[in-house]
Amino acid sequence: MTYPSLREYVNQLEKCAKCGDCAYSVKLTTSRKPISLPCAIRNVLGFEAYDARGRIIVMKKLLEGEINVDRKFLDWLYTCTTCANCKETCLAVPGGLDTPSMVEALRKDVVNQGLTIEKHLSIRDATIDEHNPYGEPHSERRSFLKGEEIPKQAKTIYFVGCTPSYRQQSVAESTVRLLRNADEDFTLLKDEWCCGSVLLRLGYEDLGREVMKHNIDEIESTGAETLVTSCAGCYRTFKDIYQKMKVEEGSNLKVLHITELLDQLAEKGRIGFSAKKQARITYHDPCHLGRHGGIYESPRRLIEKVKGVELVEMKTNRSYAHCCGAGGGVKSTNPDLANKVAKERIGEALEAKSNLLLTACPFCKTNLTDGSSGLIKVADIVEYLAESMSAVKPEAETVVRAGVGATIEDEFPRYLESHPEIFVDLVMDSMLDFATFNSWNSFDKGEKPLNVFNVRRTQNGIEIRTGRAERADVALNFSPDTIKDLVASGDRDEYAKKFGRFYNEPTETKWIDFILNKSTKTLIRMGYGKFAREAGILEEE
Ligand code: SF4
Ligand code: SF4
Repeated sequence: MTYPSLREYVNQLEKCAKCGDCAYSVKLTTSRKPISLPCAIRNVLGFEAYDARGRIIVMKKLLEGEINVDRKFLDWLYTCTTCANCKETCLAVPGGLDTPSMVEALRKDVVNQGLTIEKHLSIRDATIDEHNPYGEPHSERRSFLKGEEIPKQAKTIYFVGCTPSYRQQSVAESTVRLLRNADEDFTLLKDEWCCGSVLLRLGYEDLGREVMKHNIDEIESTGAETLVTSCAGCYRTFKDIYQKMKVEEGSNLKVLHITELLDQLAEKGRIGFSAKKQARITYHDPCHLGRHGGIYESPRRLIEKVKGVELVEMKTNRSYAHCCGAGGGVKSTNPDLANKVAKERIGEALEAKSNLLLTACPFCKTNLTDGSSGLIKVADIVEYLAESMSAVKPEAETVVRAGVGATIEDEFPRYLESHPEIFVDLVMDSMLDFATFNSWNSFDKGEKPLNVFNVRRTQNGIEIRTGRAERADVALNFSPDTIKDLVASGDRDEYAKKFGRFYNEPTETKWIDFILNKSTKTLIRMGYGKFAREAGILEEE
C-alpha cells in the first residue's frame, strides 16, 4: 500500500514531542483553567492507541512499513471522531498538530486503494443514489414542510441537511418557524443533496466534492447572498470547501450557522424569546461548529436572551468541550462506542445540575439523546428557541455605555473606553474578551460571570460590546477587587504594572486569569507582546 495523502503530514508526524498533553492534560499551561482529559475516545477505550500521540506513533510505523492495513486496523482508524480536541491542546506547533486531518488523509489513502468497511459502502451508495446517507427516498426530502409553500427566490437559502430532513425533522420545522417569525426572506434549494460531509469524513473525498458540486451549481442558480444551515456538519462543509473554493473565484456568498443569523436577528430586535417554564440549561459545543468553525458564543448569547432561563457551563466547554462521540463516522461504524462517549458527556451535563441539554447540531442531538437514558432532556437549540418565541420583540441593544452608579464590573468597560492607549499596539480587529467572576471558585467551576464584554481594536481606537466575541484572541478573567484597583490606574503604565502583579502574584481576592486562543507567537505578531512585557508576564527576548 502507498500513503500519498498521509505522507503530506510527515513533517507534522515528526514534530510530536510525545508529551501526552492531547490525552492526559487537565490544565492548560497558558492558564490555570482545567481542561480535563481532552480525548473523549481514549477516555472511554482506555488505551494510548486511541489518542493523538498513539495515533501518531501508529501512523509513523505504518509509513515505515512495520504495520499492515487489515480489517482490525480499519476498525481502529474509524474510532477517531476527528473532534480536534487533541489539536486544541497540543502546543508542539502553532495551532497544534493536526491529528484529525492526518486520520482523514489516511482514510482517503485506504479508500482510494479499495479498502473499506462494508457499512461505509452502503452509506456511500445511498448518498449517490438517494442523495442522503440514510438511503431514504430523495423525493421525500422536503416532507417536513407538510405541503407548506416556500418562496422560490430569496436572498437567504436555508440549507436543511440530511439529518433534519429525515431523522430530526423538528429541527427543520423549528428553523422554518424561527425564520418566518423574524420575517427573514428565505428559500430552500430546488434540489438539495447531501452536503458531502459524511463522505468526506469517511475518506471518500473525491465523491464528497462531486456531491458538493451539484449543490454549488444549485446555489449559484438562485443568486442568493447568504446560505444558512442548522446542521453543524453542513456548516463546516460549506465553510471549509465552498467558501474557500468560491471566494477565490469571486463569490460573495456568506455562510452562516442558524445560531449566528438568529443572534443577529435578535440583536436587531426582530425576534424575542421567553421561557415557557424555568430551566437550568447547559450547552454542548458541537465539534464541527466550535473547534472546526470557531462559533462558541452566538448559541450562548441566544440562550441567555430567553427570559427566565439560567445558562450553566459543563466542566469542559467551548474549545475544550468533550465530543458527543458521534462524529467522524464513529456513530455509523461503532454505535456502542458513540453511545459510551455520549454517556460521559451526559454525566458532565448532570454534574452541572442542568435539567436541559441543548446543542446546535441535529447529529449531536441524536447521539446525546441515545446516551441520555432519559436522565436529562436533550434538544437542539432551534427546537428550544422555536418553542420559546415570544410575541413581544425586544428593543435592539448593545454597545456598552456604563453609567454613573454602575457596579464596579460595569465601570470596567467605561474605564477601558477612556484609555484606548492600552490597546494601541494591537493590529486591527484584534479581539479580547473580558469577564468578571465573583470569586476564583466561581470562575473555576465555570459559573456564570457577573458581566462579560469584548474589546475590538478598530481603525480609530476601540469598540466595546456586551457579550463574548465569537473568535476572541484572548479571554481575560478578573475578580471585582482586581477591577477596583485596575480602574484606579492613572495611565497605561500603572494599569500594566498592576495587571502583571495580579497575574503573577494572585491572592484570594485579587487575581487575573487568561486563556490564549491563539499561539503565543501569533499573539506577539498581533501586537500583544508589548503590553505583556510591560506587565512583566512575558520576558524580554
Ligand atoms: S500530539 Fe501534541 S500534545 Fe499530543 S503527544 Fe504529540 S506533541 Fe504532545
Ligand atoms: S480528534 Fe478527538 S477522538 Fe481523534 S484523537 Fe483527537 S481528541 Fe481523540
